[in-house]
Amino acid sequence: MTTPPRSPAAGLQGARCSGCSVALYPADVTCPRCGGAAQPLALHGEGTLWTWTVQRYAPKSPPYQEPPGGFRPFALGYVELVDGVRVAAVLDVDDLDDVRIGMPLTVTAGDGVPRARPNAPTGANSPREEGP
Ligand SMILES: [Zn+2]
Repeated sequence: MTTPPRSPAAGLQGARCSGCSVALYPADVTCPRCGGAAQPLALHGEGTLWTWTVQRYAPKSPPYQEPPGGFRPFALGYVELVDGVRVAAVLDVDDLDDVRIGMPLTVTAGDGVPRARPNAPTGANSPREEGP
């Protein structure tokens, strides 16, 4: 396969229906809801975690490519973007115990599957701002 390499920092390319205004991801030229024409739309990528699970065994390969250090369980979820569409993404968190439904995330187009990172630093040991 000769898929062009994509930058992990690349924005998500979706589409928006010109008929019913629904946002689509992945991008499509036809709206699955009303059948209207959809135009390309650069999604903001910001949203909140809608639901998630942990992948505890290595997915089928290909397309899965095992990382250099070998397979490790990872979180996978749906992020509800401010654009109004849910996107499946690998959750790049330091600790699976930090994952919470509703947590703010930013999704970028990863190498294959989109990646989502918490907006605030994760880690239970990071100091929290205390009120005066
Ligand atoms: Zn539509």
